[in-house]
Amino acid sequence: MNKILEISALTKAYNRGKPNEVQVLRGLDLTVQAGEVVALVAPSGAGKSTLLHIAGLLDTADGGRIAICGEDMTAAPDRRRTAVRRNQVGFVYQFHHLLPEFSALENIVLPQLANGVPQAQARRRAMELLASVDVADRADHRPAQLSGGQQQRVAFCRALANAPRLLLADEPTGNLDSQTSDVVFSALMGLVRGTGMAAVVATHNLDLAARMDRVVRLDQGQVA
Ligand code: ADP
Repeated sequence: MNKILEISALTKAYNRGKPNEVQVLRGLDLTVQAGEVVALVAPSGAGKSTLLHIAGLLDTADGGRIAICGEDMTAAPDRRRTAVRRNQVGFVYQFHHLLPEFSALENIVLPQLANGVPQAQARRRAMELLASVDVADRADHRPAQLSGGQQQRVAFCRALANAPRLLLADEPTGNLDSQTSDVVFSALMGLVRGTGMAAVVATHNLDLAARMDRVVRLDQGQVA
């Protein structure tokens, strides 16, 4: 079995040692295989974002172990963590965070150029990704000229631009109406299924959660 994300005994508190300390994760274990899409479900404040940020190497835990694609990242130097985050991890947030002054296409080209991909190849891949989520005809539009659902589909393409092995999505349909959520979620599943990547998708939407391979509930800082 091809384990993309392995987390064990993860602990995380904010304001450690202070009167306002919040213990968020309390010995959490989670393994996600290649090709598996996991729904992360919990009430607001339960620690979903905290977990995704640690899994995506944007933040560090207080204790426990995290490995990505079999490589232990727990004590890896910052340079290595940055390289793995860039190459193996894609992030999508509730709000698209696309660069407003660039077109949809350019938003997907730029992360590839930063990774040393030649311009023509980067543009070709960006167009393919846009076509796969049905937004190719909006390639030259800026984010503000796109609907919320289109913006979010472009954000998925950007997250996948450098072909990561792990996609982490934090309430990716959280600000969309239910019909648009459905379109965006189907696009996400299509992209993930097409690549065999692993995905963890935090969501409040239990209908969407039920369409994923596995539902993981956070309770008291652990997987319930
Ligand atoms: P979720 O994504 O499930 O809504 P979060 O991971 O954002 O939950 O937050 C978990 C808990 O940690 C909440 O109680 C939140 O207030 C707290 N928290 C999150 N980030 C910080 C921070 N930077 N400093 C202090 N407390 C934080």
